[in-house]
Amino acid sequence: MELKGPLCYVLDYDDIANYAYQTAKKIKDSEWRPDAIVGIARGGWVHARIQCDLLGVKELFSVKVSHWGVTATKDGKAKLTCPLVGDIEGKKVLVVDDITDTGESLTMAVEHIEETGKPKEVRTATLMHIAGSKFVPDYYGVEVTWAWEIWPWNFYEDLTALIMKIFEGEDIKELTTPQLKKHLREYNNIVLSDEQLSKVKAHMGYLEKIEYPQDKVWKLK
Ligand code: AMP
Repeated sequence: MELKGPLCYVLDYDDIANYAYQTAKKIKDSEWRPDAIVGIARGGWVHARIQCDLLGVKELFSVKVSHWGVTATKDGKAKLTCPLVGDIEGKKVLVVDDITDTGESLTMAVEHIEETGKPKEVRTATLMHIAGSKFVPDYYGVEVTWAWEIWPWNFYEDLTALIMKIFEGEDIKELTTPQLKKHLREYNNIVLSDEQLSKVKAHMGYLEKIEYPQDKVWKLK
């Protein structure tokens, strides 16, 4: 069945723990140990913190690169929106992100870190690598074909954006939960439980995207 929107996968924290472990195993098998980790905000932060634990690293720093706008929509070129925070001079540094898609974010982050931080060595790690990405990280948990991965730390943000796109795509202002379930399958191949959907609905009410509280319908504000 041809989808009306981007194919999405909903990941949970067990998936993340598993991919992070696979990534760390490859790092350990290569007999390399970073002195410091730089997490790329926002997508790489949770993974970066997990790698600190898995690799026994105490120094965790940050850099921010912005690239993708609303869920699964590219926002022009990658931009460095917050420079490197932390002292990495002379250190072996692991730069950590969630996924390499176009790879522009990691390319930009690594260039910036090498230029400004004067590290001894820089290597990169992601949970997932999309086959064909221009940037291939030194280490990654799993290689996948393109889909929009809905990370557990971005669940409400992504679902809100995807549901807003459904309202727009269908040119409607109101949906029942069963109608929304059908659309989420048709647009993004997403299947959610009633409990997950009711939490998303409460979140969208909180953000004032839809009327809140509403009993059965999802009604645009
Ligand atoms: P990129 O510069 O295209 O490699 O991607 C930059 C960032 O956008 C990634 O670190 C993710 O946080 C997010 N992103 C890009 N592509 C995807 C995807 N297919 N699924 C989930 N997040 C993505």
